[in-house]
Amino acid sequence: MTSLEEGEVYQHLGTPTGVRVRQTPEDTIVEILRYAAQTDSSLLAPWQKINALNTFLIPRISFVLRGSSVAKVHLNKADSTIRQLVRKWLDLPQRASTDIFYNCHRQGGANVPRMGDLCDVAVITHTFRLLTCPDPTVRSIVEEAIRDVVRKCTSRAPSEQDIDTYLSGFLEAEFGRKGGDLSSLWSRTCNASRRLGKRISCRWKWCKEHQELGILVRCIKTLEHTIVTPTARTLLERTLKDAIRCHYAEKLKRKPDQDKVFQVSSKWDASNHFLSGGKFTRFADWWFIHRARLNCIPLNGAICHGNRDKRCRKCGYAKETLPHVLCGCKHHSGVWCHRHNAIQNRLVKAIPPSLGKITINSAIPGTDSQLRPNIIVTNAEKKRVLMVDITVPFENRSPAFHEARAWKVLTYTPLANTLRAQGYKVQIHAVVVGALSAWDPHNEPVLRTCGVGRRYARLMRQLMVSDTIRWSRDIYTEHITGHHQYQVE
Ligand SMILES: [Zn+2]
Repeated sequence: MTSLEEGEVYQHLGTPTGVRVRQTPEDTIVEILRYAAQTDSSLLAPWQKINALNTFLIPRISFVLRGSSVAKVHLNKADSTIRQLVRKWLDLPQRASTDIFYNCHRQGGANVPRMGDLCDVAVITHTFRLLTCPDPTVRSIVEEAIRDVVRKCTSRAPSEQDIDTYLSGFLEAEFGRKGGDLSSLWSRTCNASRRLGKRISCRWKWCKEHQELGILVRCIKTLEHTIVTPTARTLLERTLKDAIRCHYAEKLKRKPDQDKVFQVSSKWDASNHFLSGGKFTRFADWWFIHRARLNCIPLNGAICHGNRDKRCRKCGYAKETLPHVLCGCKHHSGVWCHRHNAIQNRLVKAIPPSLGKITINSAIPGTDSQLRPNIIVTNAEKKRVLMVDITVPFENRSPAFHEARAWKVLTYTPLANTLRAQGYKVQIHAVVVGALSAWDPHNEPVLRTCGVGRRYARLMRQLMVSDTIRWSRDIYTEHITGHHQYQVE
């Protein structure tokens, strides 16, 4: 073994180790940023760049964070550089919310973790693992050490509640006297718990009933607080990371003008399938969709300052906004029809012939109604009629989808009643896909009724979503540039 002077270091499992040394792995951080810059200048597609960052670069720091005492300043600087890159890869302007970067792919985010958050999670997880170590010797040494620290802080023999109050980073009464402490794992745990506690309301908790220490975290599935117990100690890291992602999603949902699409598009993972692999997505669609979803598209009506003309450049409507261009401007009604038909054709192909005879956009014989449902499946033997209509509303939060669906059902109810009087069993359904590709979860029962197989349904949702993005992008670009964007077969 080499003997070290004070301040000298040797690398132990990637961590600078020694007496009074700065353990921040600056070399690792510099290297990550260098590779990130190289990734940026490479010829990879933007979704591949994000994937490379998440798979190869950020995990390098996660390992070092487990064993080192790391200064947050360096991590925050690195986070800021990475944020700039991700912003560029998603083609978002400065005013777009950064919360989308930290959300998972399923909810429409870039799934990039913040190094600062990873550091806090690593510290808490490490302390919890030490305190709940299955080896009794290790556990007793650690328990004695923490008791010692809390005893010094409170000047009395610490109770179990004192320990959980201390570790949670509360600063009330005698617990606020920690100033001047040398930085140790314990003080770092307090700070990390306090920081995370403010955001995801997690805290340490002593369970009297089972006589064990646990951590209270909000579960993302039930949205209720659950305790991670020593028996579930391996789940702590994942639970904390999930809670942090959930925090960013909630934050985005509170944004006054950028939340509308996200509230609907985050409900079903098919809406965001292209984020992880860019499947069925053109580059032009990628550069359009993120801006559009965060309402950062430069249209006349979106500019708040100044006295600029806010009218639609095509039809003169009072306010040129994205909902108007994609779903309201009559100038583009021809293209809406293509977008609508693209979704309709996918569904028609997937309905098995055994269900009945399929007719499209035609009046039902034997009735005097002029209504023409998009898809009608008639089974004359079983006296059954299934009507399905396709609609593409703008994602103006969830009520817009509910209204669109209810409107379709209401429209076809008189026709259904006529058929019921003739002895038919009639079902009316709607398939709702948002103009910015949000898949309505209420479409699921409709697909089952239409007899779409589970395996194909997975692909069909993705295709419908990508079709919608493609057509919406073409509508928008044609609106702005005046150049014809598509060819019809
Ligand atoms: Zn217009």
